[in-house]
Formats: sequence, structure tokens, C-alpha cells
Amino acid sequence: MEDNILRIAIDGPSGAGKSTIAKIVAEKMGVDYIDTGAMYRAIGLKMLTEGVGQDDGSEDARKEVLDRTDIDFDGGIVTLDGKDVSGSIRTPEISKAASDYSRFPEVREKLVAIQREIGHRKSVVMDGRDIGTNVFTDAQYKFFLTATPEERARRRVKELIEKGQDVNYEDTLEDIKQRDYNDTHRKLNPLRKADDAVEIDTTDMTIEEVAGAILDVIAGRKKA
Ligand code: C5P
Repeated sequence: MEDNILRIAIDGPSGAGKSTIAKIVAEKMGVDYIDTGAMYRAIGLKMLTEGVGQDDGSEDARKEVLDRTDIDFDGGIVTLDGKDVSGSIRTPEISKAASDYSRFPEVREKLVAIQREIGHRKSVVMDGRDIGTNVFTDAQYKFFLTATPEERARRRVKELIEKGQDVNYEDTLEDIKQRDYNDTHRKLNPLRKADDAVEIDTTDMTIEEVAGAILDVIAGRKKA
């Protein structure tokens, strides 16, 4: 590591509890939390709004939109062209768009550059799909959180219903399985555990237990 900056990578499939856990760990460690999924969601929102296609022939159109797109994540808030979109990106439609557009090299290139710039400037806990395998391969700590698709769907339904959205379990489970497939099968930086990441199956664990397990590894109380 070329500097004193602390980088903690938390990867895993959707609904494994990454963002909840990453926020707790960041707070305990006194560093910033960066939600890279929120950035892919913001891109999905922009592409849908602009009506840009997902075929290979639309590459130039996507690049043109990306050239005039400004994305940032600061203080727990994702901004798209200067506007806070943290609320409007949390819908099933935008989840799908984020997953669909995230396979394009031009999209990943832009967001990975922003993520690396942030992580070179300050200490972070960053969560996503490719943080330990691509964005920060030299992160001091890497974690890979998993849970069964059924448990992840239950968590997602609970979260969305609490936000007042109308969702059902079967559709959510289907969405999760589809996104798992997309995220693990895309050519560029697919979702996979880094060889040096600590894997935690959170299916039967509480949030406090998972955060505790991660903090124990960081504090050296448990072997990575
Ligand atoms: O984490 P979240 O569910 O908000 O991510 C939305 C989508 O963004 C994922 O399904 C994935 O396709 C994409 N993503 C990604 N790389 C990341 C973070 C998210 O491809 N580092």
C-alpha cells in the first residue's frame, strides 16, 4: 500500500446485507461509506430517462450520455448531475436497469475511475460487486457476504414494504435470481469472491453478528 489510507471492500450479491453492514463498519472505523451500487443505479436511471438502448449498436449513444453525466457519492447521498437521487433509484425498475447497463465497459470504466479517485483521497468502506477483485485489489480488508436467494428476497421485500412500495415475494425472488445471473455471468468484472476475501454466509446471522464478525477480523481478534 502506497499510502496510509484504509480501504475495506465488501462485495456480494444483492440483498446479502452489504450496505447495512458497510454503514455500521464505516461508522465504527470513523471512515466514509461508499455505495457503488447506488452509482450504477444512478447510471441506470439516467439511461432510462434518456431512452438509450442496451444493444451493441447503441454504444456511441451511451458514451455520449456518459460524457455529460456527473455522478458522485458523498455523505451517504448519491448525486446525478448535481441532484440527490438517493430515493428515486430504489425501485425494482432501476435495480434491473442498473444490472443491465452495468455490463457495458464504458459504464464500468467511468464509475470505476470515480470510485478509485474517491478511495485514493480518503479512507473508505466501499461495497459493491467488484471492489475486492477490481476497484481496490490492494484493499487491506476484503469481505464477501452471501445468503440464500430466498433469505435475500425476504429481506428485500421487508425493506421495500417499509418504504411504502408495493412488492411481492415471488417477483422479488425472481428479480434477485435474474440479477445474480447477470452479475456473475457478465464478461467484465463479474461478481466473484476475491481469493483473499473473508466469506461470511449471513443467512442465519443478525446484522449485529455480521458487523461484529467483520470488526473482529479488522481488529485482529479473529484470523482472516
Ligand atoms: O448493490 P446494488 O443492488 O444497489 O447494485 C445494483 C446493480 O449495480 C447490481 O445488480 C450490479 O449489476 C451493479 N453493480 C456492479 N458493480 C458494483 C456495484 C453494483 O456491477 N460494484
